[in-house]
Amino acid sequence: MQLTKKTLAQHADHIYDALVVGGGAAGLSAGIYLQRYLLSTLIIDKGKARSFWMQELHNYLGLPPETPGRAVLKQGKDHYLALEGDYLNAYVEEVIDEGDTLLVKVRIGRQNPTYEVFRTRYLIAASGIIDHLPQLADMKNVFDYAGYNLHVCLICDGYEMRDQRVGVFGSSAGSLEVAFPLGWFTRHITVFTNGAFEVGAELRDRFTQAGYTINEQPIHQFLGENHQMSGVELADGSVVELDAGLIAMGSKYHADYLQGIDLEYSGGNLVTDSMNRTSHPRIFAVGDLKVGMNQVIVAASDGALAATQVWRDIRRQEGTRRPLAEVLAA
Ligand SMILES: Cc1cc2nc3c(=O)[nH]c(=O)nc-3n(C[C@H](O)[C@H](O)[C@H](O)COP(=O)(O)OP(=O)(O)OC[C@H]3O[C@@H](n4cnc5c(N)ncnc54)[C@H](O)[C@@H]3O)c2cc1C
Repeated sequence: MQLTKKTLAQHADHIYDALVVGGGAAGLSAGIYLQRYLLSTLIIDKGKARSFWMQELHNYLGLPPETPGRAVLKQGKDHYLALEGDYLNAYVEEVIDEGDTLLVKVRIGRQNPTYEVFRTRYLIAASGIIDHLPQLADMKNVFDYAGYNLHVCLICDGYEMRDQRVGVFGSSAGSLEVAFPLGWFTRHITVFTNGAFEVGAELRDRFTQAGYTINEQPIHQFLGENHQMSGVELADGSVVELDAGLIAMGSKYHADYLQGIDLEYSGGNLVTDSMNRTSHPRIFAVGDLKVGMNQVIVAASDGALAATQVWRDIRRQEGTRRPLAEVLAA
């Protein structure tokens, strides 16, 4: 059920079999599998999943290519709730390892927040990442185009950019390397530094050899209309016309709540085994937060694997299934 501040008290003493942090594709998939294994599950989600910004999901088997991310999220949440999983809109602040259980501290609401704790036997970290965007003065038009034809994911949208004039917007010389795999889809590439960093001689040579243009001026604003970016206006007033853009500025990893637990990371991503278990035996990581490919289909698969391993662990510990009424009353 959808938990609210009013109904929370009924659930406060319950020890969940699994608590899922994040209600994106990975977390919802995990929740659906967990409920179908007759385990008790709570998904806690702060909202605005990465897929919420995805205007069209182009590459998911069985879905029309113009399916918006928010339709996937709504369908997934409805499916999970229909299986009687618990769902709470809230922010997970901290996880504490208590031995047999994990204590999860939660903040509910932004204005006049209240605080709650939950206990769970297993935790699935499905809290994802969020893309850094170009930081222009007043964010000049960035939000009008990001997620439309100002893309953030080459694997997702390389096909959409085929043979187009594409601007690559990086945050460091290294981040501009994405221009080379983009060159598979189009040769008409301009890399932009926004005047923020130097491009070394070796990289400059490689761009030149590939036929790419380097633009090192500060950007004033993105231009376009109806969410279709048509170019950038530079600080000197000149305009570079483009058909699309690719932002390559890295991401923020939503894992602050795990800071108190010693886990293995690779960069910002959690390292897991093939069933998505982290270096902690009762913490799993799925979707964009773990090492792997940042795709909806992979996130959904990750959730299925983690949920299945949680079920196997619990089944091995308990042998026979507890009656459902007992699970819910625990
Ligand atoms: C513009 C855009 C276009 C894309 N296009 C495609 C595409 O065409 N095809 C494709 O396969 N993929 C695409 N992707 C990638 C895809 O969106 C991600 O790979 C996918 O959403 C990852 O799912 P996830 O469940 O791991 O994370 P998310 O969907 O980001 O879900 C994580 C959830 O956890 C929540 N959360 C974070 N921290 C906390 C916390 N402390 N407490 C509670 N909740 C928390 C977040 O708010 C969020 O709701 C695109 C992404 C973007 C941004």
